[in-house]
Amino acid sequence: MLLRRRITSLLLVLALGAGMAVQAHASEIDETQKQAEELEKKKKDAENEKNSLEKQLNEIVAEMDRTKEKIDTKEAEISEKEDELIQAKVDENDQYESMKKRIKYMYENGNSQFIEILCESKSIGEFLNNAEYISTISEYDRNMLVQFQEIVKQVQEQEATLKKEYEELEVMQNELIAKQDNLNELMESKQEEIEQISDDLGATQEKLQKLKEAAEAAKRKQEEMARAAAAAAAAAKAGSGGSSASAGAPVVSGNGTFTHPCPGMTYISSEFGWRAQPLPGASSNHKGMDFAAPTGTPIYAAAAGTVTSASYSGNAGNLIVINHGNGLQTYYMHCHAMYVSAGQTVSKGQNIGAVGTTGNSTGPHLHFQVMLNGTPTNPRNYL
Ligand SMILES: [Zn+2]
Repeated sequence: MLLRRRITSLLLVLALGAGMAVQAHASEIDETQKQAEELEKKKKDAENEKNSLEKQLNEIVAEMDRTKEKIDTKEAEISEKEDELIQAKVDENDQYESMKKRIKYMYENGNSQFIEILCESKSIGEFLNNAEYISTISEYDRNMLVQFQEIVKQVQEQEATLKKEYEELEVMQNELIAKQDNLNELMESKQEEIEQISDDLGATQEKLQKLKEAAEAAKRKQEEMARAAAAAAAAAKAGSGGSSASAGAPVVSGNGTFTHPCPGMTYISSEFGWRAQPLPGASSNHKGMDFAAPTGTPIYAAAAGTVTSASYSGNAGNLIVINHGNGLQTYYMHCHAMYVSAGQTVSKGQNIGAVGTTGNSTGPHLHFQVMLNGTPTNPRNYL
């Protein structure tokens, strides 16, 4: 009884411990779940940032393409302008050469003034200045030369403007290249960040899975222990001296005052009254009825009452005595197991013990005895 209580308490403590373990698992699962959710959010944010960087990068690349087109166009324009300039210089020079021929012709025909000016002038501009006041030079020649000079100057200016624009475009393109490099670096580091978060997330999810499995196992164990504790508690409540077996469901049979105490018997091995002495020391005046039955066959309370004793008692072996009131008592002898204890009330047909062969007995059987006002009475009168 005491041992059983201890076992019951131990089981309860174990069940409680398992419960606490389940509780601990639950809070750790919550925490890990939260971590996983935070990591998922972080990953999504990083991916959004990476996408935004990618978009910026694509814009930069598109702008670089446009700038490259402008640079190409500018290069073509500059090249064209250079050709134009060469042509303008050729035209200017042709004019100068033809003018010189005309002046030379004039000199050969007696006018020496121009050849001197021509020889002294170091440039076309100087010649024009020197010749400014010489009315003999044809106005046509002078105008043409000024015009050609003007064209050369204009082309040179245009080329300079184009080159300046080209340089600006190149600066712009270099800035775009720097921006592209910067974005590429940002994207690389963002990608690394995403990979790191993915790794963390994977580990966290794995941990979560393991925790959930552990919690599931702990929960199963707790339920198992709770069942064991409940069974032990029920057995302890049913009470019995010394056997670990527990009582079965109550059984009521027959129409008599009493229900049969051993309906699972195989045969009646001895009736109430006179008999041949079965064992030395056994009474030849049999005070009860013997029901032969295999060990462990359930014994039921013949009627409702209070257990007056349930203990080992010499020749009777494990003996249960129930007081039914009105001077009526029943004895159950040679029990293998007893599920009740003294002072306990029992109902009619309650499983109070199991058939055995304890005490002075030749084999497993229930000796059922009815006492009326302290005198053995034939049980058949009540069954
Ligand atoms: Zn007997």
